[in-house]
Amino acid sequence: MRIITFFKKSIKILLDMLLPARCMLCGAIIDSSGALCADCFSKIHFIASPICEICGLPLELEENEKQMCARCIHKTPRFKRARAAMVYNDNSKNIVLGFKHADRTESAPVFARWLVRAGEDLLTDADIIIPVPLHYTRLFSRRYNQAALLAKEIAKELNGNNIKVCYNALTRNRRTASQGRFSKSERYKNVSGAFTVKNPKIIAGRSILLVDDVMTTGATFDECSRILLRNGAASVNVLALAKAIN
Ligand SMILES: [Zn+2]
Ligand SMILES: [Zn+2]
Repeated sequence: MRIITFFKKSIKILLDMLLPARCMLCGAIIDSSGALCADCFSKIHFIASPICEICGLPLELEENEKQMCARCIHKTPRFKRARAAMVYNDNSKNIVLGFKHADRTESAPVFARWLVRAGEDLLTDADIIIPVPLHYTRLFSRRYNQAALLAKEIAKELNGNNIKVCYNALTRNRRTASQGRFSKSERYKNVSGAFTVKNPKIIAGRSILLVDDVMTTGATFDECSRILLRNGAASVNVLALAKAIN
């Protein structure tokens, strides 16, 4: 195993020497691999306070004492808190899609650094990180789960903090249609009953941090939280690379 890791690392070093690092968005040559050029970096809307203390939505101003958005005041989600590194807009969408569908997995360590920054408070509370699972048929066609890669790199980034990533606690038991085509209420229906806790012992009494690439309405995270809490998790927080804000 060590020999394989050694060869993999050697090949990567060799490739880094031969091929220049490129910006993950525009392809311009840059210093470090998996990152952005200065121009593209300025086009990304990184989320900073003031934000809704529940769902992490950027707020226009310090809206009220409790710092909650209208949606969370109306209906509190099942997860305790959600945070995201950046707003899901045309630029971040290209980054996320490249990471998800075009094998641009070398960006994962950079994303993990953004996620650790965005989810600082949540990570101090977390016992276990659980990536939102793909259905096995989708995993087969895509070859990797982008959420699992992010979770793995977050744990690496925090190295020594004793947070474990649990890849098999939660499974997706049916192939749900992509959430993009649905209205908000349809999205909740689409993922209802889609997840199962495979190993309740692992999550019992634990504080869970769910990780995924994008949070749109939060329907998927809400459903995962419901099933985790029902199976004995103490609490669920949520961390996403990008968050839709409309
Ligand atoms: Zn660029
Ligand atoms: Zn909110």
